[in-house]
Amino acid sequence: VIHIERLHKNYETAAGSVPVLKGIDLSINAGEFVAIMGPSGSGKSTFMNILGCLDEPTTGRYLLNGSDVRSLNGDALARLRNQVIGFVFQGFNLLPRADLASNVALPLLYCNEKKHARLMRAHAMLDRVGLGQHASAHPNEISGGQQQRVAIARALINHPKLILADEPTGNLDTKTGDEIMSLFKQLNQEDGITIVLVTHEPDIALYAHRLVKFVDGLITYDGAVMAAHT
Ligand code: ATP
Ligand code: MG
Repeated sequence: VIHIERLHKNYETAAGSVPVLKGIDLSINAGEFVAIMGPSGSGKSTFMNILGCLDEPTTGRYLLNGSDVRSLNGDALARLRNQVIGFVFQGFNLLPRADLASNVALPLLYCNEKKHARLMRAHAMLDRVGLGQHASAHPNEISGGQQQRVAIARALINHPKLILADEPTGNLDTKTGDEIMSLFKQLNQEDGITIVLVTHEPDIALYAHRLVKFVDGLITYDGAVMAAHT
């Protein structure tokens, strides 16, 4: 699915060009479950934003499903971001004034389906994450773990092949984090969704099959996940 060669990313700041990713080579196959770990500031989120086509590399190649991301036009990129990739973030990013079903249906706004059909799909997806009975609640009426489930339902609504999750359990207690990870594991095993997840927590990384460690903009470990490595 993902093939990256000699990827560099510099941020242009008032103080000059700051290198953040310094030559990343990485391939991820369909169906993999990869955890990315590394110190704060090592470039993990920068890398995830590039994987998700939310940001562009400074130099290097990124092939997603065989096509060079750099060669895609705006429509093709929007389709990738909206239909091929599902995003889950640490802060949930739910709309406070919209009920849960509307939050989940959000990525469907620009498809050709009628509102009723969109909400039906959102309900079905809320059922999938165990929140069907809360469809008309608002985000502030449910727990953090439930909010993250809603965010996952929203990420799944277009049946993405790839889920990118940047510290999805960062704001959750251990038990709730484990529940969210069980859900990711199920999506990976039963639905074959490729998952790339950033975490600071060694126990969370143990859910993945492969660990990639970033230090100062470079990959320093890529291999099996063992407690000793996380
Ligand atoms: P954390 O574990 O704290 O989330 P991270 O590994 O995700 O860290 P990044 O967010 O990728 O790290 O940031 C890497 C470096 O790039 C940091 O030094 C950060 O200050 C810098 N950086 C990130 N975004 C920008 C930006 N938009 N402009 C300039 N510098 C940036
Ligand atoms: Mg980060």
